[in-house]
Amino acid sequence: MSATRGQSPVLWFTGLSGAGKTTAARYVEEALRRSGVPVERLDGDELRATICKGLGFSREDRMENIRRIAYVAKLLSRNGVVTLVSAITPYREMRAYLREHLPGYVEIYVRCSLTECERRDVKGMYAKARRGEIAAFTGISDPYEEPEAPDVVIDTENMTVEACGDAILAHIAESVSR
Ligand code: ADP
Repeated sequence: MSATRGQSPVLWFTGLSGAGKTTAARYVEEALRRSGVPVERLDGDELRATICKGLGFSREDRMENIRRIAYVAKLLSRNGVVTLVSAITPYREMRAYLREHLPGYVEIYVRCSLTECERRDVKGMYAKARRGEIAAFTGISDPYEEPEAPDVVIDTENMTVEACGDAILAHIAESVSR
């Protein structure tokens, strides 16, 4: 990953709902903050209630959602803030867009099987999606296209939260100035 002066990495956590994106991002956020690194975390669900409000789950709206998050991430990153984004980001087209348009983009594939995500079902969303109460739900009625060349893969089915977070921290160690 290239790191020009004043520009910080954007750690983009992609994966199914319930895969562990927010958990890993929080762990990395806290570790960086403890080390005195300026850091900001952008949570996909929270942004859908603010700057991405009104966007739905069609392919176009999902793309627009990602573009808006990327815009904010770019502003933060170019001002030296390490930016962590947790958003499903299900389509290859989105990740190609990010790699092309977002300097400092680091793709982190938060890997977890659909079976395990459904077992966790933290918010009861999978059950609803299975009952047909949520349309275009990623993994059930909308695709999650697996990343082909992520920068980091964390396997939350077989690795602890600490091991996942530490693998990410090790990957970015050289590009983060404290
Ligand atoms: P997402 O942000 O991808 O929707 P969350 O971070 O909310 O997912 O995590 C979903 C569930 O998975 C939570 O109950 C969390 O505690 C659990 N989890 C996350 N990472 C791990 C891990 N490495 N090992 C075991 N459980 C995990």
